[in-house]
Amino acid sequence: MLPFIRSDLTQFTAYKPHPSSDTAAAVPTELDRVDTNESPYDLPPQLKEKLAWTYQELIESNRYPDGGHEKLKQAIVEYVHESASLSHPLFTIENISVGNGSDELIRSLLIATCLGREGSILVAQPTFSMYAILAQTLGISVVTINRDKSNFAIDLKVAQTAIENTQNPPIRAVFVVHPNSPTANPLTSAELAWLRSLPEHILVVIDEAYFEFSQTTLVGELLQHPNWVILRTFSKAFRLAGMRVGYCIAHPELIAILEKVRLPYNLPSFSIAAALIALEGRQLLLESIPQTLAQRAKLIETLSQNPALQVWDSAANFIFVRLQANSCDSQDANLKNLHQKLKENGTLVREINGGLRITVGTPEENTRTLQRIQATLANSHF
Ligand SMILES: *Cc1c(COP(=O)(O)O)cnc(C)c1O
Repeated sequence: MLPFIRSDLTQFTAYKPHPSSDTAAAVPTELDRVDTNESPYDLPPQLKEKLAWTYQELIESNRYPDGGHEKLKQAIVEYVHESASLSHPLFTIENISVGNGSDELIRSLLIATCLGREGSILVAQPTFSMYAILAQTLGISVVTINRDKSNFAIDLKVAQTAIENTQNPPIRAVFVVHPNSPTANPLTSAELAWLRSLPEHILVVIDEAYFEFSQTTLVGELLQHPNWVILRTFSKAFRLAGMRVGYCIAHPELIAILEKVRLPYNLPSFSIAAALIALEGRQLLLESIPQTLAQRAKLIETLSQNPALQVWDSAANFIFVRLQANSCDSQDANLKNLHQKLKENGTLVREINGGLRITVGTPEENTRTLQRIQATLANSHF
């Protein structure tokens, strides 16, 4: 261990989206990658050409990018209004901050609220892992509560007790995903009522990474809650995971702080151009959403018929399944086995929180996913 490194960092491992426990096993090179909830589709050729042209003709790679992001923020404001069907404009660019992926915004929010032992964060597991990971790398303590095992609702009594009893440091930020990952359930009305009841000295982070699939958003309520921030990303429905662009919508005073905290040129010129082109071409990009939702319904319906599986409803572009409890076998070993067999057969899914998170892919990928799951289960005695 290098003697100049902060001692608490020794216990962490670097984030690996594809943990490779199986280097020895034969894994096909052409995998269906339905493990990271990206869109299965690249940008349509006409948008890619536009981006290539922009790069060729307009982007000066010797110059720093536009560090103020004004044009992009303006386009985001327009999209936010349109997508929430807001009849009159609620937001301006003063309500928007953009990040190098929403991951950067999560880190900025943590720095702005909790760093230096000023606050802890509250998360309800299972949920998106980055909140806790980023908090821990900043030395921020994470208070974890559990979700209901059958419907993944947050136990609000436990949550409220955690808020009231956590000291040194107190809870300063609550993170929720709407709909949640990896379990795909939207916030319930009880959870929403609880979030609305939280006092103004607690920041409420509502991550709407999957908004385009759920079509439910809380932006309409944002102005009533200066302690709320909504996170969005271009990594999912907008097909730009490789460009790293996320944004948030919040009270101008919070935005001003985030602008202070971030790196001055946090977004490359190419990423800014890509996000602008994606927003301009949003009609084309979002046309694929109904297909994703229909494919999701098919995955859920087919897998629900398999008695070996427990399958949940989904408001996102992925589904969550578990193996049915079976008293004589080891659930965990069976799940790992299923995950590994699927991989060997060419379908990469995410094994997480005692289940599998499966992204809705192209119709062809989904057909293969279904075939491979059914075949593996039929050949095993789980
Ligand atoms: C995918 C995802 C994001 C997106 O992160 P980026 O850094 O913008 O790629 C954010 N939150 C959740 C819950 C996600 O699943």
